[in-house]
Amino acid sequence: MTQGTAPARTTARETAPQEGRADGILLAVRELTVRFRMRGGREIAAVTDASFDLAAGECLALVGESGCGKSVLASALLGLLPGNARTGGRALLYGGAARHTDGGPGGGTASGGLDLLAADEATLARTVRGRRVGLVPQSPAAHLTPVRTVRAQLSETVRELTGARGPALAEATRAAAERAAFPAGHLDRYPHQLSGGLAQRAATALALVADAPLLLADEPTTGLDRELVQRTVDELRGHADDGRGLLIITHDLAAAERVADRVAVMYAGRIVELCDAHAFFGRPGPRHPYARGLLEALPERAFVPVPGIPPELGDLPEGCAFAPRCARASAACATVPALTDGVACHHPVAPGAPTTPGAGPTGAAERENAGEGSAA
Ligand code: SF4
Repeated sequence: MTQGTAPARTTARETAPQEGRADGILLAVRELTVRFRMRGGREIAAVTDASFDLAAGECLALVGESGCGKSVLASALLGLLPGNARTGGRALLYGGAARHTDGGPGGGTASGGLDLLAADEATLARTVRGRRVGLVPQSPAAHLTPVRTVRAQLSETVRELTGARGPALAEATRAAAERAAFPAGHLDRYPHQLSGGLAQRAATALALVADAPLLLADEPTTGLDRELVQRTVDELRGHADDGRGLLIITHDLAAAERVADRVAVMYAGRIVELCDAHAFFGRPGPRHPYARGLLEALPERAFVPVPGIPPELGDLPEGCAFAPRCARASAACATVPALTDGVACHHPVAPGAPTTPGAGPTGAAERENAGEGSAA
C-alpha cells in the first residue's frame, strides 16, 4: 500500500487496480446453493441456485423478507458460513488488487476469476475480505471489537489499508468516520456505549475505508432514521458511481429504490425476479406475484400485506414455494419454475397489471387475456 498523507479514500482508491473481465463484470454468481446440516440430519435449504452478475459501476439490490436467504448468500460469498454449511455452484470474483490469487495456491480459480466458494480461508482472509470485497455487516455491534474504541479500530483499519501515519492518520480516521456520518465526538466510545444506529455507522465507516472493488452491504440502514438512511445509501451509491460494484442486501425497499440499478428478489432461498430497478419500482412493475406483493405492501402504495407467512427453509413445499400464498397458483405450480427472462413464475403478472396477490382477482382472467389459459 502507498504511504502518504492523503485522506484514506483517495489513497486507497489510487492503489486499487481495476483489472477484470472485458465486459466489466466484477462478480459472476452461478447456481449458488447453501445447505445447513442440522442435528438429527435435518437440512435447511437456505439458498438454492442463485445466479446473477454484478458489473463495475453497478448496484444490485437483493431484497426479500427476513429469513429468505439474503444474508446467507452474502456470508457464502465471504466464506463466513458456519461449519455445518456446505455450498454448491460458483461465485467468480474478477479484478481487484490480489492478482496473485488467480491461479495460485488455494485460489480455487476458473476463467481468470477467483471462485469465492472454492477459495481457502487463508486466501479469503489475506486478500479478499476487506480488500477485494468490503462488508457492511448485518450485526455491526457483534462485528466491532468490544474492548477497543471506535477510533482505535477505525485508525488501525485506515493505517493497514492506506499506510497513513501520524497526523495524516488522525485526519484520515476522522474523514473515514465523517464519510459514514459517524460523529467525531463519539470516536472514543466503546461498542457497548453505542446505539444501534451508531454501531451501524461505525461498521459502515470501517467497510468503506478500503474502497474495495466490490462492497457487500447487508442491511446497512438498520437502526437509522430516514435522513441517515438516505445519507448512507447515497454514500454507498457513490461507491458504485466511482466504478466499483455494490451488492446491497435489504428489506428496505425505499432504500433499494434510491440506490439500485437492478433488483433481485429472493423468496425461500431462490431468486424469483431479477430486473432493472426503474422497471421494478416504476413501470411495468414486478412480474412475480411475490415481488409485486412486496411493493404493494408499502404504505405509500396499496398498503396490502402479502397474505400468509414464508415457509420454513427446512420444510419447503414441493414446487413453487410461494404457492400457498399465491392467488395465481395453478396445478402447474407443483413444479419449481425456472428463472426465465428475469422471472421465476408459471403465471407472471402481465406488465403494468394492477393485480395484487391475495387481494382481489386471482389473475385468471388476466392469464386468459394473456393467452396462458389455466395451465395444469
Ligand atoms: S403463479 Fe405459481 S409459479 Fe408463480 S408465484 Fe404463484 S405459485 Fe409460484
